[in-house]
Amino acid sequence: MNYQNLKVVLEHIKKNVRCPHCEVSYPEHTLNIAETFENGALIVGICEKCRKPALIEVMIMSDPRPINKDQIRVKTMKSGPVTDREIDELSRFLQEFNGDFKTLFTK
Ligand SMILES: [Zn+2]
Repeated sequence: MNYQNLKVVLEHIKKNVRCPHCEVSYPEHTLNIAETFENGALIVGICEKCRKPALIEVMIMSDPRPINKDQIRVKTMKSGPVTDREIDELSRFLQEFNGDFKTLFTK
């Protein structure tokens, strides 16, 4: 994902994603980009209010440049302290992901 798209993604997260623990939104400085991929990114949000981390998995449905917000899908997961192993597993998942967003997001 290029820098321009990443900025759109971060904007989207700031406006739409809430902490799964306490429903507070994430200002940009609380978002840590763990990894980016061609069609997605893995972001760790550290909540300002409850201090708990959450994994924010971002998928881009298609890849026009620049992307628009309709193409962003976000999945937020509660998380304890995030280990390197978990980030590894998620990044492997994203790399092998077959692009079937419909199945993924209706689970
Ligand atoms: Zn919180």
